Amino acid sequence: MKNKISPSPLTERASLEQSRQGRREFFKQLGKLGLGLAVLPPALKALLEFHQTLWAQDAKSLKEADYYEQMADGRVRCTLCPNFHILNKGELSFCFTRINRNGKLITLAYNNPCILNVDPIEKGPFYHIRPGTNTVALAIGGCNLRCLYCQNWNIAMERPDRLKNLDLPKEKILDSAREKECKTILFSFTEPTVYPEYVKEVTAFTFSHGIKNVICTAGFVNPTPLKDLCKNVEGFAVTLKAFNDKFYQKICGQNLAPVLKSLEVIKAEKRWLEIVNLIVPSYNDDMKVIKEMCEWIKKNLGEDTPIHFGRFVPEYKLKDLPPTPVNTIDDALKVGKDAGLKYVYSFNVAPHDGNNTYCPACKKAVIKRLAFKILENNLPNGKCKFCNQKIAGVWE
Ligand code: SF4
Repeated sequence: MKNKISPSPLTERASLEQSRQGRREFFKQLGKLGLGLAVLPPALKALLEFHQTLWAQDAKSLKEADYYEQMADGRVRCTLCPNFHILNKGELSFCFTRINRNGKLITLAYNNPCILNVDPIEKGPFYHIRPGTNTVALAIGGCNLRCLYCQNWNIAMERPDRLKNLDLPKEKILDSAREKECKTILFSFTEPTVYPEYVKEVTAFTFSHGIKNVICTAGFVNPTPLKDLCKNVEGFAVTLKAFNDKFYQKICGQNLAPVLKSLEVIKAEKRWLEIVNLIVPSYNDDMKVIKEMCEWIKKNLGEDTPIHFGRFVPEYKLKDLPPTPVNTIDDALKVGKDAGLKYVYSFNVAPHDGNNTYCPACKKAVIKRLAFKILENNLPNGKCKFCNQKIAGVWE
């Protein structure tokens, strides 16, 4: 699950880009009709030359992909995610972001986000990284999962070059962060691991200029690219869809095991980690399985790993289901606490006690929230104001 996107004034720029794309298509068709520059009247010639510069801008969104192998017959084998797809010449990838162009794997997802928002970092969801600060949240189209309840299917299930996009190289992202006084860049809404070239380039640049980076991901990615992504990213929110391979196969079109491996990689790389588990009525609301999941998290990732139990909202191909009852979220919170996890939250339910962070020692609320809004912060220097207990997280 990812947060459903909400429009921002910054995204209005994308509509300009759409009208440009329409004009570009018109002039490309002119070219196909064989109308050379020489035979055109001067005004039309100037217009065509102008649009040729716009086509050149399109090329900025194309880059040779990382993580693939060339095969003798012109096919390529992608090694970015556990699907290891082999692509024929001209074939577009399952995740929409990669294409085999003459035996080279090219990414279509580079410098061209379709979303650029300023959001509270809590929307990540990150409840243990700099609470109350804003983040520049962005996304490029595409995804390598097929969740039937996808909250952002209109951009996640589309190739990036068919969306309304911004032209956003790393320098402009840094400018946005500074202008909006954001402390972090958040890659979210779709699946950031299927455009690693852009994420790595942006995070290396912004990190070197004092802005931190966080990612919300489904974690269906191979260990090598994930470790590379970790280099300049301080925190990950990983959507653990269910602790059940059947659910992954039937509802998300993938498998559980690589996601668990990714969680371990992030932990081993010593990056801050929060887990999101969206509870879908009748599909993954079995408390016995939720208990197994919480016990696995405690054993393998540590009791300080926050978990957010999210309320399902009918969307995409699961519109016939009801929203998750609040008492199911309550039950999951109790299961998580009983399993020994220290920080257990409700997500998409407010007001709710599960929006708050409680001190594991004195049990008082160290951060009171209403959904993503901070109402009270009793956590000076990352320590409980009431009993001085250290609370795990990134607070500076
Ligand atoms: S990243 Fe995309 S192209 Fe590569 S294996 Fe995964 S789904 Fe296939």
